[in-house]
Amino acid sequence: MPSFKTLDDVEVSGKRVLVRVDLNVPMADGQVTDATRILRILPTIGEISEKGGKVILLAHFGRPNGKINPEMSLAPVVTTLSDMIGKPVSFSTDCIGPMAEAAINPMHDGDVTLLENTRFHEGEEKNDDAFAADLAKNGDLFVSDAFSASHRAHASTEGVARHMKAVAGRTMQAELEALEAGLGEPERPVIAIVGGAKVSTKLDLLGNLVGKVDRLVIGGGMANTFLAAQGVDVGKSLCEHELGDTAREILAKAEKENCEIILPEDVVVAGEFAANAANANIPVTQCPADKMILDAGQMTVEYIISKIKTSKTLIWNGPLGAFEIEPFDIATVLVAKAAGKQTREGNLVSVGGGGDTVAALNHADASKDFTYVSTAGGAFLEWMEGKDLPGVSVLKA
Ligand code: AMP
Repeated sequence: MPSFKTLDDVEVSGKRVLVRVDLNVPMADGQVTDATRILRILPTIGEISEKGGKVILLAHFGRPNGKINPEMSLAPVVTTLSDMIGKPVSFSTDCIGPMAEAAINPMHDGDVTLLENTRFHEGEEKNDDAFAADLAKNGDLFVSDAFSASHRAHASTEGVARHMKAVAGRTMQAELEALEAGLGEPERPVIAIVGGAKVSTKLDLLGNLVGKVDRLVIGGGMANTFLAAQGVDVGKSLCEHELGDTAREILAKAEKENCEIILPEDVVVAGEFAANAANANIPVTQCPADKMILDAGQMTVEYIISKIKTSKTLIWNGPLGAFEIEPFDIATVLVAKAAGKQTREGNLVSVGGGGDTVAALNHADASKDFTYVSTAGGAFLEWMEGKDLPGVSVLKA
């Protein structure tokens, strides 16, 4: 039983259903250039429409800061949306008030209408209650299908749900179920991989994970900070030397919580951050002063894979090396492929997301094999940090 309400808990037929979606899609010259986010919301829109609900879409676009900005209008999305849904989509130039009413009143059961950018109103990001009430007037029921916006307590993600019955759409549901399997009540042992550039951006995340997972792999540039904190000379590697105390505190907490920390034993070093730079695989203790660590070494990769093979759940955020430049993508690619294979064979639940992780897992051609890859950046990270997501809390059963 999910701990949140879903479309299964409500009757949508004949109702005006306000559906919060993520339409913050990449655009160029008034055209949608990547429709992945639209693809994700189709199941919810299709289901409500087929069941005879009136689908009224709420979304934000860009950062207009509470003012009308024609460059951030959602109008150009209508054509792509309508093509992908396979039926006409009408548009209202305002998300509240007489314009919205004029678009919604003539709707028939099964019709779809898109309302203009919620962030054209100051009340959206302020989560103003009067604005939330105005949004709520447009519907009989609220469905949230925008996990990626759920870490923000805004009127269209959180406030509106305090004025009406609120449930998760199918995409939100899939995301929450995957996350639940990852950190809620995961099958143990749980292994987490946290990589990327800097420790400073991931302090809360590391602090939360050491108390929850059994094994924590620290990779990428941030591993250097931990190595330096342990007295390892990391040459001219990317390293936040000033975070030495913090790194040692995290290591001490991990020991107390019985969380095994896995840092590189061997690394790939080069003289410069450049594709195909001359490189060598060396023990981590032998980094020359004029070299930088750009990837985890072969032995480390084998060790991480052996640990994945004896784990039941994997949570992954951040690459193990400078994966955008060859050959420093090797550790990330090999570990991602191994995790994908374990998942495919039914031995592992694997959840990845946040920042560059989607690009890294795609680069390794492993996303398709993962149990779930979240395209939500900030919301996924806050979930990994153990924070309450306001837009999810309002859907709690
Ligand atoms: P993040 O957005 O924090 O997940 O960081 C991702 C970035 O970390 C990528 O652009 C990688 O190139 C970078 N990165 C990973 N490992 C290293 C490393 N050893 N040295 C420098 N940059 C790295």
